[in-house]
Amino acid sequence: MLGRLADALARLADAPPAPPCPDCRAPMALRGEEPVGELPVAIERFYVCRRCGRHLTRCVLWAIPD
Ligand SMILES: [Zn+2]
Repeated sequence: MLGRLADALARLADAPPAPPCPDCRAPMALRGEEPVGELPVAIERFYVCRRCGRHLTRCVLWAIPD
């Protein structure tokens, strides 16, 4: 029971999977996050490829504003 709860919490805390590298298809590593402009609901995530060093940014929405 407690183990199952811990598993669920661990899954919730997990960041969404990093996208594969567009160049070499290796899994990319999350390097950091930054708010986008004045919007409190959007952040930009920075990824870097561990194999070829390519950088990638992804915009992520925390919530959909009305
Ligand atoms: Zn790469």
